Amino acid sequence: MKCRHCNTELKYVFLNLGVAPPSNAYLSIDELSQPEKVFPLKLYVCHNCWLVQTEDYSKSDELFTKEYAYFSSVSSSWLEHAFRYTEMITGKLNLNKNSFVLELASNDGYLLKNFVAAGIPCLGIEPTDSTADAAEAIGIPVRREFFGENSARKLEQEGKKADLIIGNNVFAHVPDINDFSKGLKIAHKSGGTITLEFPHLLNLIKYKQFDTVYHEHYSYLSLYTVCLIFQQAGLKVYDVEELPTHGGSLRVYGCHADDVKETNSSVSKLIEKEKEFGLQDLTVYLNFQAEVDKITRDLLTFLKKQKQKGKTIGAYGAAAKGNTLMNYGKIKNDLVSFVCDAAPSKQGKYMPGSHIPILHPSVMTDLKPDWVIIFPWNLEKEITKQQSKIKEWGGKFLEAIPELRII
Ligand SMILES: [Zn+2]
Repeated sequence: MKCRHCNTELKYVFLNLGVAPPSNAYLSIDELSQPEKVFPLKLYVCHNCWLVQTEDYSKSDELFTKEYAYFSSVSSSWLEHAFRYTEMITGKLNLNKNSFVLELASNDGYLLKNFVAAGIPCLGIEPTDSTADAAEAIGIPVRREFFGENSARKLEQEGKKADLIIGNNVFAHVPDINDFSKGLKIAHKSGGTITLEFPHLLNLIKYKQFDTVYHEHYSYLSLYTVCLIFQQAGLKVYDVEELPTHGGSLRVYGCHADDVKETNSSVSKLIEKEKEFGLQDLTVYLNFQAEVDKITRDLLTFLKKQKQKGKTIGAYGAAAKGNTLMNYGKIKNDLVSFVCDAAPSKQGKYMPGSHIPILHPSVMTDLKPDWVIIFPWNLEKEITKQQSKIKEWGGKFLEAIPELRII
């Protein structure tokens, strides 16, 4: 297998999580008795450009289906994040009714609705019908396709070039990152800006966030590697911010390579920080598997002990993270009896692999679990606040990452 960015032969395995079903393939009760599709979940690191990437097994059209169950608007903290971003970027770039904003993977319109409300023309690109329907229902124009060079050319032919391209949590999700970057180059105006947000590889390793590894994530990115990818596409990164979202993300600001915008010193400072951490050295990558194995071993031992004591164990948030943790830890519904989730699209279904039933959050008070594992640890504050009533019956929250922790 060759590196998807620089074509170097990949020799080094960063993480091998065995086989796993696609993480958003929630099962109906009828599907429980049928065989599940599983794909190897193995990441390589390229020793030339340091792109961490999945093996090429699953195809994006099998992962992002019509039934795709992830709706961005379910998380109130994510909605707030989107709102604050809109205000900040509108001011920074002086966006107005004559501007054009393009969002890639616009999901259910969680972000573009702010631009619509402000009277700034916009368009979303979104391949999954379920979320695109939701966006259109609230008046957001959506084009249903995957973004890349071809779709950017079509926009160009229609005279649509963006003053701002937004890509939140999509850059790491695209199978062909070079083609996507060519699309970014074509689809934005001279003098325009691209902002991309993606989880930072440095945090993934530092805080052992291996549960953010799933099939839909094709790439795990450092700023250094993103700069190389941009450079090859005729783009440059001119600024970067570190964000607390998704366990620590980067927001990079990009533009045409020949743009007059000066590059902020934050870019070279952050690349230096990555280098000091060891992101340009194989050792850090090759030590990761053993740390991950310890996390799953500790969790399994704890849960088995609690089960033997007759305790009830549930979970909160049927996120993709939970699927990775349960599947690699070989934890099934005999140990974790249920998971509550606020998304109606997931309720009544089952988590892939582990077959843990997904229930409405109101059942928490009926079932009174002794332990509740929080799967989306990035939403810990939101969840513990919303579900604080578990204290009434002596229930406690638990997190497995970066190490077993009772909250
Ligand atoms: Zn490479």
